[in-house]
Amino acid sequence: MIINNSDILKILSKTKDATNEEIEKVLKIADTKKGLDIEQIAILLNIKEKNHLEKLLKIAGKIKEEIYGNRLVIFAPLYISNYCVNNCTYCGYKKSNAIPRKKLTMNEIQKEVELMEKAGHKRIALEVGEDPVHCDIDYVLDAIKAIYNTKNENGSIRRINVNIAATTVENYKKLKDANIGTYILFQETYHQETYEKVHPNSLKGDYHYHLTAFDRAMEAGIDDVGAGVLFGLANYKYEVLSLMLHNNYLEEKFGVGFHTISVPRIKKAEGMTLDMFTHVIDDETFIKIVAILRVAVPYTGIILSTRESENIRKHLIQYGVSQISAGSCTDVGGYSDEEQGITSAQFEIADHRKPIDILKELIKDKHIPSYCTACYRSGRTGDRFMRLAKSGEIHNVCTPNALMTLMEFITDYGDEEIYHLGYELIMEEISKISNEKIKNLTLNNLKRINNGERDLFL
Ligand code: SAM
Repeated sequence: MIINNSDILKILSKTKDATNEEIEKVLKIADTKKGLDIEQIAILLNIKEKNHLEKLLKIAGKIKEEIYGNRLVIFAPLYISNYCVNNCTYCGYKKSNAIPRKKLTMNEIQKEVELMEKAGHKRIALEVGEDPVHCDIDYVLDAIKAIYNTKNENGSIRRINVNIAATTVENYKKLKDANIGTYILFQETYHQETYEKVHPNSLKGDYHYHLTAFDRAMEAGIDDVGAGVLFGLANYKYEVLSLMLHNNYLEEKFGVGFHTISVPRIKKAEGMTLDMFTHVIDDETFIKIVAILRVAVPYTGIILSTRESENIRKHLIQYGVSQISAGSCTDVGGYSDEEQGITSAQFEIADHRKPIDILKELIKDKHIPSYCTACYRSGRTGDRFMRLAKSGEIHNVCTPNALMTLMEFITDYGDEEIYHLGYELIMEEISKISNEKIKNLTLNNLKRINNGERDLFL
């Protein structure tokens, strides 16, 4: 069994009053970048004192810096169908909401992708509601093909991560053959009673089928899976411990755990108000959660969306987040509608800036925005990726690749301001590469990009 309710409650209760000494000991272990076991994670979840929290944030920040450097991966979601047979109480797409239902044609999908490419995007998270009739696996597969085949003068989308409802091994095999990046599925809540309550009269309401989706995805050969919890549905300590148990379970069974963890917080949506949910978390708790995830699984990417404001995003990047969405629309046909001033989103977002403005801020703060998709296209996925990441050698490819994609962005999609800001950062970062061979390879590739070549990576 992946999740055992009474075991989790027992661990949380046992660690509730951890002593100063026990907490300090766990913080020291966290500092070694080797990750933490379940009981140690529970001790950190239970810390209350300000000085312990400050230490935790410091260690999380240090680990983030040492493992991910100042790189930050950028992506955007693409919603193609809001038909849904579920009644998730928290979601604007729920069946009982009388909203216009739309499903994009392949032409419309390509139009959306052209707009996303125009904004510089190379990585997409494909999103759909669950509807076996209106949005079956063949529609999703056709959409993936249409997206990869949408070319403009500067290239095309290079990686599609897919967030579709839990499905069969057979369908996961089809997704694998369609060359997807990560298969993403949020558990929403690991607390079974709550899960069943927030998914009434829904296909999605089968807790065990949903919980075992990654088993089926991995059996089908998908080795990069992205997990997540919708924070606000149940007690956050219970959710974080369960996430970690799920990760350990996959690691034991398949040799690799989550590739990424997403940390969505519940937001206002059509047909619901936030006061219906009793476990909504404040900013301070949210930052603590991200820091704990960072030290607990140092090599697992943490993804943050535009559900969060610019200000909170800044904090979370510092303490652990390694991927963010930018310029997102969360409604079907949203990129085209946005051009015409129309919206009907799945939930409210808080960061409305355009990708170029987000990138400018990041560069000013000395972050390298990265559109890199090299690992998965070079077969560095699953446990191969994790081995490289844990060896520390990943820096040798990640930073150069991030710099190359930034050079592409400032050349193809930028204005004068971002060109200057970006160019300066690229040169500064090149001077920090100590391996002469890698430095020369990178410089040479940057020259080739300047001369018009695209999609170069190590
Ligand atoms: N239909 C797929 C499924 O069932 O997993 C994809 C889900 S949806 C397109 C993506 C995610 O949005 C959901 O998994 C959920 O966590 C999140 N979401 C839904 N309503 C939300 C809300 N009100 N606030 C924040 N996130 C929300």
